[in-house]
Amino acid sequence: MEIKSQIEQSLLTSNKNKLNSRKTEYLESMNPELFESILRETLFLPKEATLHERIYCVMNNIDDIPLCPFCSDKRSYVLYRGYRATCGKARCGLHLRYQKEEQHE
Ligand SMILES: [Zn+2]
Repeated sequence: MEIKSQIEQSLLTSNKNKLNSRKTEYLESMNPELFESILRETLFLPKEATLHERIYCVMNNIDDIPLCPFCSDKRSYVLYRGYRATCGKARCGLHLRYQKEEQHE
């Protein structure tokens, strides 16, 4: 079975748009096979990336680390929401704000 449908069936909440955090937490012991496949699909992420982040990448067809457009560090991941537009550093946030303001002028 495709990894995405496995994730949908075993980890998403019944309305399909959120991860069931308890099931996700126990995935490694409950379903080591799926756990391993998720790790294999997301080898591009740093070792410390959380399982939530890995699942987000798999479900959204992300196959490379999303980078900050201003400093090229890895963009920060927000639980259940996905990646921020930047790495999360204050100065990159400022860059982004200036850029947005310019676009609105
Ligand atoms: Zn940055």
